[in-house]
Amino acid sequence: MNNFSYYNPTKIIFGKGKIASIAKEIPAEARVLVTYGGGSIKRNGVYDQVREALKGHDFLEFGGIEVNPGYETLMKGVEVVRKEAVTMLLAVGGGSVADGTKFIAAAANFKGEPWDILSKQAPVKSAIPLGVVLTLPATGSESNSFAVISRKATHEKLAFGSPLCYPKFAVLDPETTYTLPPVQIANGVVDAFIHTIEQYLTYPAAAPLQDRLAEGVLLTLLEVGPKALATPNDYDTMASLMWCATLALNGLIGCGVPQDWSTHMIGHELTAAYGIDHARTLAVVLPGLLRNRREEKHEKLLQYARQIWGVTDGSDDERIESAIGRTEEFFQSLGVPTRLSGYVDAVSAPEAIAARLEARGGNPLGERASITPDVVREILATRL
Ligand code: NAP
Ligand code: FE
Repeated sequence: MNNFSYYNPTKIIFGKGKIASIAKEIPAEARVLVTYGGGSIKRNGVYDQVREALKGHDFLEFGGIEVNPGYETLMKGVEVVRKEAVTMLLAVGGGSVADGTKFIAAAANFKGEPWDILSKQAPVKSAIPLGVVLTLPATGSESNSFAVISRKATHEKLAFGSPLCYPKFAVLDPETTYTLPPVQIANGVVDAFIHTIEQYLTYPAAAPLQDRLAEGVLLTLLEVGPKALATPNDYDTMASLMWCATLALNGLIGCGVPQDWSTHMIGHELTAAYGIDHARTLAVVLPGLLRNRREEKHEKLLQYARQIWGVTDGSDDERIESAIGRTEEFFQSLGVPTRLSGYVDAVSAPEAIAARLEARGGNPLGERASITPDVVREILATRL
């Protein structure tokens, strides 16, 4: 097992009716900015619950954070924080609102051009404290330190992370997810599945507990994903999905093991270039990437085939192909296409995405830093 430090300070407050408890988590003297997206929280009653819970607190609102949260919008939030002397942020929504709010938190006290936090990985030295009321199980953003922000003018999508951006608390009430459209449920299942895969399907690190934890998350997602689509108002199904998505990216399963975030890095470029939903880019990239890196990931791919798909017959190659094929079929069964031609003029995409990565310095991706822009071109050429 590799050395690691594990730190996750986010208090998880889980269950029905728990939005009411945010009042206890927010200091009485705080001046709160409630941030949200395009209005789903106003249609499903979550907004009313938050307002009710904040009675007696001093709070303002900042709505309109879009999907793939945009720097331009978020800087307006930064202005509000500065002008109104806000001391606490409360993000109410999915990963886009949580990520966008982390950026507002980090940018508010930043000396200089806040885009540098993303483009130059400028260190975040202070951040406004934030809490999250989650309405979409997918990203894990509610209890991690990362955020992914887009700049619409330049078609860029970049990530940053800072320990100061861990939410102080996250409320996970599965009932808030009942109004999710099927597309978003499917996206959430795929995103959480692939977060887990990127910390599991690397090379063996003699970390059997991490493997069992990751396999537990994957098997549970296989079980509850289809159920969530079939019965989105079933409390226990949505509760399991919500907890899976949090555990998939709160740091625990990645302790002491190699991590491969290349599917995400390539996916971010696909979203930036073509506007494809985050999870859907991942479903396109992953099968091609696993096939392309099958030698490097050989041992873990065989473990994945056996432990997750029960595949034990055939040659090594046959078992690996069977596991990758079943993974792809799982995404498709949720209604998520796994080919670029489902979204864009696919023929030009491999070259365009490789060129974007090259322009960003061309640093090789993956747990062995072996996935160069040329390899990305090869991978995407198999995904047309
Ligand atoms: P999202 O972009 O936050 O939301 C997608 C859509 O779902 C929005 O239209 C939103 O509407 C709607 N929605 C949310 N909750 C709803 C509910 N309960 N009922 C009905 N509609 C609801 O989706 P996401 O998948 O959670 O986040 C994706 C973003 O997170 C991407 O930018 C991705 O790159 C990023 N990400 C971050 C991390 C991380 O570690 N920080 C990891 C993976 C991905 P409203 O706008 O009206 O609310
Ligand atoms: Fe993701």
